[in-house]
Amino acid sequence: MDPETARIRQQFVEWWQQTQYGQDQELQKYVAWDSKQKKSYVWDSFEQVAYATTGEPKVICVRCKNFVVHPGFRRSGPSPMKNHLKSGRCRPQSRSLRGINEILQEMPQRVPATKFDHNTFQHKILKFVTTTKLSFRLIEHPEFKELIEYTRFADPNTDLLIPSTRTIRRLLHNEVQTKQQSILQQLPPCSNIAIAFDC
Ligand SMILES: [Zn+2]
Repeated sequence: MDPETARIRQQFVEWWQQTQYGQDQELQKYVAWDSKQKKSYVWDSFEQVAYATTGEPKVICVRCKNFVVHPGFRRSGPSPMKNHLKSGRCRPQSRSLRGINEILQEMPQRVPATKFDHNTFQHKILKFVTTTKLSFRLIEHPEFKELIEYTRFADPNTDLLIPSTRTIRRLLHNEVQTKQQSILQQLPPCSNIAIAFDC
């Protein structure tokens, strides 16, 4: 397993252990997220997943993308997976399976919240970080916290206008121009600037 996959898997397991199902001791024992423990041929056709809201473990069929009962769930074993492959329900789908991030993205959605709920907020952050493939460390970045805090001052009766990529680029451009002008004004006339990058 490459280090990036190992890191994502580790983060996934840490997240799962915080979920409703992840706190179940029997599931902790029988649901092995570590792929090294899976020897049966049947695993060539399945990937392990968990519902984003509850952590309920499932397996997803690589061929048809249907969910099947996880072999470690109530000790079901691999029979439901084997039966699924033989069943008429299993028809190939063209989209490729890209792993945990995509699966999390495709998890059943909650009904949009009408009022704030801390659990939903946490899951929205998780979904944002995993679907955009950003670092989990982003969540603890002071700038991210400040951004979220600032939105609390918004008028709840008007839409929160999120700027487009173009607007943000223009803002950056203007900011750089302003900074350059202010630096130049502080220098004596006819000065030269040499810029050194520390990288
Ligand atoms: Zn299938």
